[in-house]
Amino acid sequence: MSKKKVNLYFPPEKVNEPITYHLVKDYGLLFNILRAVVEEKGGRLLIEVEGRPAQISEGLAYIRSRGVEVKELNEYVDKDLSRCTNCGMCVSICPADAIEMDRETWEVIFHQSKCIACGLCVSSCPPQAMKLKI
Ligand code: SF4
Ligand code: SF4
Repeated sequence: MSKKKVNLYFPPEKVNEPITYHLVKDYGLLFNILRAVVEEKGGRLLIEVEGRPAQISEGLAYIRSRGVEVKELNEYVDKDLSRCTNCGMCVSICPADAIEMDRETWEVIFHQSKCIACGLCVSSCPPQAMKLKI
C-alpha cells in the first residue's frame, strides 16, 4: 500500500458531482480530505489517497478523465528561513506535530513530510515566514 497527496481542481460545473466517491467504489482506494475550498471559479480539494500504486494511478486517471485537474503534491508549505525569528508561535498551533522546537538550539524545525497543509501556521506567523503553496 502507498499514500499520495494530491490537489484536485474542479471546474464550477463539476463541483457538485460525486467524482471522488468513485475512488472508493470503483478503485478500492481510501482517501482523507485534508483541505477543501469552494469558490466561484470552482473547487479545490487536497486529499491523501491510499491504495496500491496501480490503483492510485488508475483512480487519478479516472478523475482526470472527468475534467478535474490533478496535481500531485510533495510540499505544501514553504518556510522562509530568512524571515523566521524562531519565536515558536507556530509550534503549539500545528495539529500534525510538523513543527517542533529544538531544545538545544532553540531553533524551530519544520517537518515537511508531516504537514497536512491546514494553513494554521501560515496565518499565525508574525513575519509571514510560512507560506502555503497550494
Ligand atoms: S511563527 Fe513564524 S517566525 Fe515564529 S517560529 Fe514559526 S515560522 Fe518562525
Ligand atoms: S500548514 Fe498546518 S500542518 Fe502544516 S506545518 Fe503549518 S500548522 Fe502544521
